[in-house]
Amino acid sequence: AAKNDGRGRARAFNRSMLIMLEQREMLRRSLRVALQEGQFFIEYQPLVELPERIVGFEALLRWRHPYAGVIPPNLFIPMAEADGLMGEIGEWVLENACRQATTWPSHFIVAVNLSPAQFLLGGFTDRVAAILDEVGLAADRLELEITETVLLERTTNNLDTLNTLEILGIRIALDDFGTRYSSLSYLQNFPFDTIKIDKHFINDVETNPKSQTIVRFIIGLAHGLGMRVTAEGVETVGQATWLGRRKCDRLQGNLLGAPMPADAIGDFLDHSSFAML
Ligand code: C2E
Ligand code: MG
Ligand code: MG
Ligand code: MG
Repeated sequence: AAKNDGRGRARAFNRSMLIMLEQREMLRRSLRVALQEGQFFIEYQPLVELPERIVGFEALLRWRHPYAGVIPPNLFIPMAEADGLMGEIGEWVLENACRQATTWPSHFIVAVNLSPAQFLLGGFTDRVAAILDEVGLAADRLELEITETVLLERTTNNLDTLNTLEILGIRIALDDFGTRYSSLSYLQNFPFDTIKIDKHFINDVETNPKSQTIVRFIIGLAHGLGMRVTAEGVETVGQATWLGRRKCDRLQGNLLGAPMPADAIGDFLDHSSFAML
């Protein structure tokens, strides 16, 4: 009986695995047509400088699948990366987000996330410059967000790429700091304007002394190096107050504003107030 049970479990397990694999395979196939069919769209999340000034928005990619509904980026971006589609998709995001930013007040920046594939592509900096030129956005209104994973390979070329972007006047933010292979030598060598503290540390910053120590350390480190600090995933007034007292420069999170479609931004700007900060 035990043997049968085991086999039954194995069969059931294989069946659900198979369904999962088929679903992934279906998603992967439909990812290839998503760009042509216009199924991608961008939401924008406000970046707020303390005490209470909106400085711009981060562009966050979404995929409206015809049957599966809206699929979050953490699910499909790794697939797109693996299939070599992220260069093209990333360029679509960059162009559309930059074009969108030209409709905002002229002191607002737009932050765009880069995937490793996109960043490592030859001619990347030329493409960025061409897009800014095409849409008519000043270079200092674009902030490119990269993660440490982007920097893992080909270090000298990475440094060249980042230096070229800096010379163009584009700002660079180090995203999700503290979650991966945080190497302090990156901070010594690369021209970052901003460090973004991952929401993992912000989540319990009011109550967890270890998170408090880490966040204080990152803020001090960034300021000592002449960089700005943004806290991600700020959800409560308590977190915002704690961060403000420690001189965190910018806040981003659902407390300040959740990601919203481009056509909701006008209304948001008319009605937003950060009196709670
Ligand atoms: P990220 O760049 O670190 O973006 C911040 C993520 O935190 C977003 O998730 C945002 O919706 C979420 N978030 C913002 N405020 C809060 C909050 O108060 N609480 C919580 N729990 N979460 C909050 P999202 O939109 O699902 O994006 C996930 C990741 O996907 C992004 O993390 C980024 O790494 C990647 N991504 C998004 N768009 C693009 C893109 O156009 N290109 C590339 N390469 N990656 C992208
Ligand atoms: Mg980001
Ligand atoms: Mg982040
Ligand atoms: Mg993050």
